[in-house]
Amino acid sequence: MENTKKTEGQIEQERLCYKKKNYFEEADKNTCKKIFDYAEGYKAFLDAGKTERESCEVAIKLAKENGFSEFKFGDSLKAGDKKYFVNRNKSIALFKIGTDPLERSGIRLVASHIDAPRIDLKQVPLYEDSGMCFFKTHYYGGIKKYQWTAIPLALHGKVILLDGKEIDINIGEDKNDPVFCITDLLPHLGREQMNQPVSKMIEAEQLNVLAGGIPFEDKELKEKVKLNVLKLLNEKYGMNEEDFLSSELCVVPAFSARDVGLDRAFVGAYGHDDRVCAYPAMTAIFESESTKTVMSLLVDKEEIGSEGTTGMQCQIYADLMEEICEALGANFRKVRALSKCLSADVTAGFDPSFASVYEKMNAAIISCGTCMNKFTGSGGKSSSSDASAEFVGEIRKAFAKAGVIWQMAELGKVDIGGGGTIAKYIARLNIDTVDLGVPVLSMHAPYEVISKADLFSNHKAFLTFFEYNA
Ligand code: MN
Ligand code: MN
Repeated sequence: MENTKKTEGQIEQERLCYKKKNYFEEADKNTCKKIFDYAEGYKAFLDAGKTERESCEVAIKLAKENGFSEFKFGDSLKAGDKKYFVNRNKSIALFKIGTDPLERSGIRLVASHIDAPRIDLKQVPLYEDSGMCFFKTHYYGGIKKYQWTAIPLALHGKVILLDGKEIDINIGEDKNDPVFCITDLLPHLGREQMNQPVSKMIEAEQLNVLAGGIPFEDKELKEKVKLNVLKLLNEKYGMNEEDFLSSELCVVPAFSARDVGLDRAFVGAYGHDDRVCAYPAMTAIFESESTKTVMSLLVDKEEIGSEGTTGMQCQIYADLMEEICEALGANFRKVRALSKCLSADVTAGFDPSFASVYEKMNAAIISCGTCMNKFTGSGGKSSSSDASAEFVGEIRKAFAKAGVIWQMAELGKVDIGGGGTIAKYIARLNIDTVDLGVPVLSMHAPYEVISKADLFSNHKAFLTFFEYNA
């Protein structure tokens, strides 16, 4: 007994010092089971949707299964309603109308994104060279280009034919499908390439996707391999080369989500950023018994600056909130002043192999729970919305009460780099907003890694955020 008694110093240390907690270590058997079970649903969500269109479709399906019905501008609303609103098949808002008056509690918002870095086909993509047919591409979002060579790739997207017919394309996910790939140089001839800076090792115009190699049977013709590929596309989808003009075709990794590690602590997959927040944003709203009006936003175009009609900068999301206010007879200005938002996006997990870019005390440590970033941005908090101490204090209190294991961090050393999220576009509406999301290893790579403990912590944090009383 005497030996296990804490010293006065130990007691004081526990009382006074901030220490991050490893969620796997803190969790009892029952919680550990929940952590692992929850990851199974998430992996299925990842495999079912690799583009914003597909993730949006899966979200609609899950929403319907959970008793949500579609909302259109002008519809009436009442307390207890469970609704989803779709923006151009690429982003979705799910919301529940609470019993609390909007003008007293505002809207509790969790805002994530479902687009991910990838490689898009150009609008005139097909060409033939040296007996092979390729797609020319233009990458989407911030990628390290060399990471996308020599891995199996799938083709996802939509083609609009001249008569308006919509063709959905998904090649490379079924195990009987062929896949695609971007070839790289063999090391034997790579001496010059490997002396280049990594950013020059593979250039954007070298990201050409191998798409075929059998010539059309006709001795007279040139570009016979390309013609044969077009013939196959025509037979299967009824399209011709000009139809690529009105297409959105995305090249994404062809692998599925898998457990990583002997103890299966991690999930490796394409597109954790930011589906690792989008999925918990949905499950939290399904489970929430909040008396407040709650909303989960899954938006598009975050990876290229939140622009366009489906990005967070579009007016449609404020319009939706205004529609909800009108339908319930509430003043939008009053409601948004009372509303609160978690900008649900990932952050960089501390990687000991690259320790020099992190300041460890303020880095997100894997498995220590979902991570709050009070501010993002770069070089002196530039372009960050920087949440207030009051708002962070309010969330901190709610998490403490609910027993959420979470951590505070920032993205790497000061002046080393940086990044932003959609937080600032929501804060702009006069809504208190702070970033919260899962630490990711190898972020923006074709295969990213997250901890199952952090994933579950994220879900619990969102649920707590929806339900707590200030
Ligand atoms: Mn993100
Ligand atoms: Mn990102």
